[in-house]
Amino acid sequence: MAKLTTRTEDYSKWYNELVVKSDLAENSGVRGCMVIKPYGYAIWEKMRDEMDKKFKETGHQNAYFPLFIPKSYFEAEEKNAEGFAKECAVVTHYRLKTDPNNPKKLIVDPEAKLEEELIVRPTSEAIIWNTYRGWIQSYRDLPILINQWANVVRWEMRTRLFLRTAEFLWQEGHTAHATKNEAIEETEKMLHVYADFAENFMAMPVIRGIKTESERFAGADRTYCIEALMQDGKALQAGTSHFLGQNFGKAFDVKFTTNEGKIEHAWGTSWGTSTRLMGALIMTHSDDLGLVLPPTLAPIQVVIVPIFRSDEQLEEINTVVDKLQKELKLKGISVKYDDRKENKPGWKFAEYELKGVPVRIAIGPKDLENGTVELARRDNLTKETQPLEGLENYIETLLTTIQKDIYAKAEKYRDENMTKVDSYEEFKKVLEEKGGFILAHWDGTAEEEAQIQEETKATIRCIPLNNDLEDGISMVSKKPSKQRVIFAKAY
Ligand code: AMP
Repeated sequence: MAKLTTRTEDYSKWYNELVVKSDLAENSGVRGCMVIKPYGYAIWEKMRDEMDKKFKETGHQNAYFPLFIPKSYFEAEEKNAEGFAKECAVVTHYRLKTDPNNPKKLIVDPEAKLEEELIVRPTSEAIIWNTYRGWIQSYRDLPILINQWANVVRWEMRTRLFLRTAEFLWQEGHTAHATKNEAIEETEKMLHVYADFAENFMAMPVIRGIKTESERFAGADRTYCIEALMQDGKALQAGTSHFLGQNFGKAFDVKFTTNEGKIEHAWGTSWGTSTRLMGALIMTHSDDLGLVLPPTLAPIQVVIVPIFRSDEQLEEINTVVDKLQKELKLKGISVKYDDRKENKPGWKFAEYELKGVPVRIAIGPKDLENGTVELARRDNLTKETQPLEGLENYIETLLTTIQKDIYAKAEKYRDENMTKVDSYEEFKKVLEEKGGFILAHWDGTAEEEAQIQEETKATIRCIPLNNDLEDGISMVSKKPSKQRVIFAKAY
């Protein structure tokens, strides 16, 4: 197996090679659109299932809305429309016909022009709020707590597998509420659901914060986000939760009678995470040998590789492995036995390292004699000999330990790469030499933010929640500031 480009050689090449070689996804013939392969999709399914569970536990229901949004709906909320207009795929015709000059070719039938163009959804607020108008009349109809699992299209110019694609899979929550406070509470609640999922399931530490006005979702009054730090020192926005105020309520005339008999517009939220999380997972944990997957998300948690020279030896191993497999499965641990004869054990070891299987068990004739196995951890590459007796219990605990250790390692990296700076010179130096999250004072204006971005390519990732107040002077304008914000170069 050809080795991967290493992270220090070329991080971006390492990432692309890893995604393809570990069988997660590949580029397709369609510009900016990827094929998610079964191994990658199995991980996404685990993410989806866990998030779905959390959404339902917090009172949400799934529903499905059309892929196509009539342009007039889309225009209704002006800021949202303006924000997404540049990335919209638009359907103008509904039929093809044979080219009269070349019977082998199809052309768009000019007679099949749609009266109104349809936008392929880049996000679904417009179609959903247009629907909510019919669902909401009284305060008794509220709140509406809906989530949709879907694909969306944003015509991105520079795409990267999982991180930024023109079509991506995601979930989008869309809720409507009777009061501003309730809507803000929901927005914050879902941010914490995301953060909890990222940290406890993906083993990926995140910073919870609020976006500045210029980074805000088009059509929102406030955007919350979780930001993660990748191993190349760049930040990745891993999820967003938006407080929409009454913007969509007003744009789509969604009104209700309050408890006191007054007529008011409904308050809204929307929140989303996408297949970008796959990229975040890969770039948070993986190494130069391949993927490192947290046990919670690994499609195969344990792989067993037999070491044998003869069919008799293999048969003896099979008997032991049969029993072990059953015991592991009873504990809900997913296990694969790779007894293929055409590949050598060393080849298999490399293969499962590349695929990020958390625990590898090797069993050979010596082990059979001693009643032991060789156990290897993917995350820290350590090996140990363990007795077969009670191995299922040992592995169950080990998987939990690995999950914690992976998180701790990522958190250590993140903390070591958070730097406080007090001058613009220092800021530029840290950005150049180390990258990471940089905590610095900002004067609160879009001008200073834009200047810093233009000069350094770093953006304000967020104003962290629960931020310590601290008097300071902003880096460029030298105006007073009350708190530090987080800057970074980002994906
Ligand atoms: P938004 O609706 O813009 O707040 O985005 C919701 C989620 O989708 C965020 O977590 C984004 O990071 C993610 N996202 C936005 N654009 C893309 C893209 N082109 N490819 C993959 N994920 C995306």
